[in-house]
Amino acid sequence: MAATVPALLRQAHRLRKHLRELQSEIDLGPRVSKAQQSHLTAEEAVHKSAYDLAAKLKMKIRDEEGTLKQINVQLAKYEKQLNEAGSPKEYEGKQSEIRQAKEKIDLTEEAILTSMEELENRTAALPADDTRWADSQSQFQQQQVDAKERLERILEDQTLAKDELAKVDAQLPADAKGQYERLIARYGPDGLAGVHGRSCQQCRTAITEQQKAELINGKFICCPNCGRGLYAAD
Ligand SMILES: [Zn+2]
Repeated sequence: MAATVPALLRQAHRLRKHLRELQSEIDLGPRVSKAQQSHLTAEEAVHKSAYDLAAKLKMKIRDEEGTLKQINVQLAKYEKQLNEAGSPKEYEGKQSEIRQAKEKIDLTEEAILTSMEELENRTAALPADDTRWADSQSQFQQQQVDAKERLERILEDQTLAKDELAKVDAQLPADAKGQYERLIARYGPDGLAGVHGRSCQQCRTAITEQQKAELINGKFICCPNCGRGLYAAD
């Protein structure tokens, strides 16, 4: 016995909803992939900045060491000038400059020590930064592989569902086909609706007992309220 129109609509509804879900998963793919790519790019930046920071600290230490050398040269000059001071006032002035130079030397040496300590800590953390970056890269690669496999599965499923739907559609009698196609063109999968008890699942309006009986007997009925093609869902 050939399937009734409502029975075919039930199958068509299930398949069309399934195809819609598959399509939205396919559509989501590029967005997911883009987010994963952004994450990888951000991780790359984190990794790079860890090395940049270490390089900057090295440069800072070199600069501070250069400054220290200059002050020492200046100090030697002041000490020489102190010995050659012509007056007590000049002598005092040189002593003050020497004091200031020595203070600067202390401060610069302290700054160098701080920078070296920072550099040491930063350098010690680099292997962890490398590990994190390597993990991010392999995670990304795995995501790419997974996404590809997932897409292949979805496409396979899509092909099967499309074939099945084509078979269902082909069984629809000619007098139902036009209306069916108009509903699908207008509402997509939501052009069809199950009826639970007497309630249309699209608009929640009740059909009459007689309509329900006709539906069960295989008649093609559209919801009097929302116009959807109905089938008995229970
Ligand atoms: Zn309805």
